[in-house]
Amino acid sequence: MHRLGHRTMTPGMVTDMCRDEDAPMQAEHFFLYGEERLSFRLVRRGTVRGNMRISVTPQGEIIVTADASTPLETVENALQHRGRWLLETKAYFRSQQAHALPHRFVGGETHFYLGRRHQLCIVDENGGKHVRLLRGKLVIPSRYPWSEELAVVTSRTEEIRRRLEAWYRQRAEEVLPQYFERMLPLVPWAARPPLRLVRMKARWGSCTPQGVVLLNPDLVRAPRHCIEYVILHELCHLREHRHSPFFWQLLTQVCPDWQARRAELDSKAEIWLGKKAPS
Ligand SMILES: [Zn+2]
Repeated sequence: MHRLGHRTMTPGMVTDMCRDEDAPMQAEHFFLYGEERLSFRLVRRGTVRGNMRISVTPQGEIIVTADASTPLETVENALQHRGRWLLETKAYFRSQQAHALPHRFVGGETHFYLGRRHQLCIVDENGGKHVRLLRGKLVIPSRYPWSEELAVVTSRTEEIRRRLEAWYRQRAEEVLPQYFERMLPLVPWAARPPLRLVRMKARWGSCTPQGVVLLNPDLVRAPRHCIEYVILHELCHLREHRHSPFFWQLLTQVCPDWQARRAELDSKAEIWLGKKAPS
């Protein structure tokens, strides 16, 4: 698990990922701000002296840490004061969750290969060996020994990103032509069309008017049945270039459950691509 760092929302206020499960004396409360009923968790700590701390977790939970002598009324007043900020912060985190959470290339992070999850495992190995799959882990050697220094963190992250990209590219070059080869006999009208792997922003595959099949190398992140669907879809375009009723008919002949495969591809693409966190 990687931790979410502290994030400053407004000057002087820090929101963070609070882990208060083991903290003593906590209770659920609520207060009214305008027409909003906002609940908060009050954590009483003997060690916090006088200064109350108000934070919002990325999950949208309001947590107040205060010492035992602070009256509840004081806490509620402080929350009232911060009411607008609290609403804005909660809305901010909601919008963050709705948007993409890009890969950070840190240990423990999930990356997909052929639809399966693999955890990044970064090992210090100078002049290291290759990136490898090992019992559900994607092991990546780094030249930069782990350190909290920003410059090192940056170099290390960049190195991991680069090595991982290269590994995916290499896997794509090996695996996708094999799948392509296997699909060809299912599509009798296709002779042996040229295949090219091309990074495309919004497409998994494409078929040029000249009959060249293009596949996005990122497809290796998706499971086999989805890769096969994309290939069959493009091979059908060799016979019918438009998405006409005839095209869908052809596709249904060679891949009767294409709708389910396409639905999976559409709904999980962002997760496989690391633009959204897996659940
Ligand atoms: Zn198409």
